[in-house]
Amino acid sequence: MSEENLKVAVRVRPFNQREKDANSKLIVAMSGNQTLITNPKTNEEKKYAFDYSYWSHDGFRTESNGYFSPESSNYADQKKVFADLGEGVLNNAWEGFNASLFAYGQTGSGKSYSVVGYGSNTGIVPMVCEDIFQKADAKKNSQITIEVTFSMLEIYSEVVRDLLNPTADRKTGLIVREDPKIGFYPQGLNKKLVDSYDDITKLMNEGTANRTIAATNMNATSSRAHTIVTVNLVQKYLNESGKEIAKSSMINLVDLAGSERANATGATGDRLKEGAAINLSLTSLGNVISALADNSSGKNVKVPYRDSVLTKLLMNALGGNSKTIMIAAISPAEINYDESLSTLRYADRAKQIKTKAMVNEDPTE
Ligand code: ADP
Ligand code: MG
Repeated sequence: MSEENLKVAVRVRPFNQREKDANSKLIVAMSGNQTLITNPKTNEEKKYAFDYSYWSHDGFRTESNGYFSPESSNYADQKKVFADLGEGVLNNAWEGFNASLFAYGQTGSGKSYSVVGYGSNTGIVPMVCEDIFQKADAKKNSQITIEVTFSMLEIYSEVVRDLLNPTADRKTGLIVREDPKIGFYPQGLNKKLVDSYDDITKLMNEGTANRTIAATNMNATSSRAHTIVTVNLVQKYLNESGKEIAKSSMINLVDLAGSERANATGATGDRLKEGAAINLSLTSLGNVISALADNSSGKNVKVPYRDSVLTKLLMNALGGNSKTIMIAAISPAEINYDESLSTLRYADRAKQIKTKAMVNEDPTE
């Protein structure tokens, strides 16, 4: 068994147009693995240490293909983030550990950019998938058979929808059941067997197109739902006595909905109600993180996983059998100080969590 702290990375993005138009002041700085944030009213500076602090503020878009390249030598581009976080996820998966990665932060802070990516700025999910098949191809002539399945779901106002089969149970969503061995799972979720990176790309596009999208003032393209992509990697081989063994890993990649409070986004009516439900999941996530952090420091409090769908489905990722990474995405601008500070505090709490991962290795019979 491998006990280790949840790894936390903070990433700060470039100014967006709105922040530029508002002549916004830069209030975030980074030094080594530290993130510093200045209160624009009092000039007081707060300092936090994380596993990684990614300075992605001053990249520029290359003319040829739009890829964000370093402008300063310490700019962290997508490749750098993948090399640190994605490779770690992959190594753990090949060893047979469950691996999870989730992105937290206000709408427009850069969660999807890191997790999924846009255009030529491919994010961690596609890069992880590509790498799996490169390694799988390299192992093709060995004695190991590899099976990869892909699934994609969305949690929207506490309803779980299968993004690869969105018409099934449209109103009620999938039922989340509990299994004594594997924990909570969405019953009947499509797990598509995939043979190549192309297969995964197609499914990702299909799933993305099926997401519930509701625009808010903050960011018209941003989803108000939590998206979970799960890649299951199974390696089968014969041991010395000729028995077939399966080593498996569940890789969960989670793009959370925006963490901002409903009122900050100008939401009213239906959107407000929806904001409240989204916050129920995120509030529960906060409570679970707090309880787990308390338990890691020697206390013995009950962890309220059952309070929301999100925390049920992330139970293993957070406090169980998984090696887990959290990316906290923040805006660089003074106008977002309150939300950025709240994200940094959340991340600071999360890094105290310890998970206990085990290699999943069992005879297939
Ligand atoms: P979120 O998913 O948190 O709502 P997005 O990932 O969609 O936010 O990011 C909002 C905008 O900021 C997008 O246009 C995205 O391209 C840009 N952006 C985010 N992070 C970065 C980054 N590290 N480098 C360059 N652009 C970024
Ligand atoms: Mg997003």
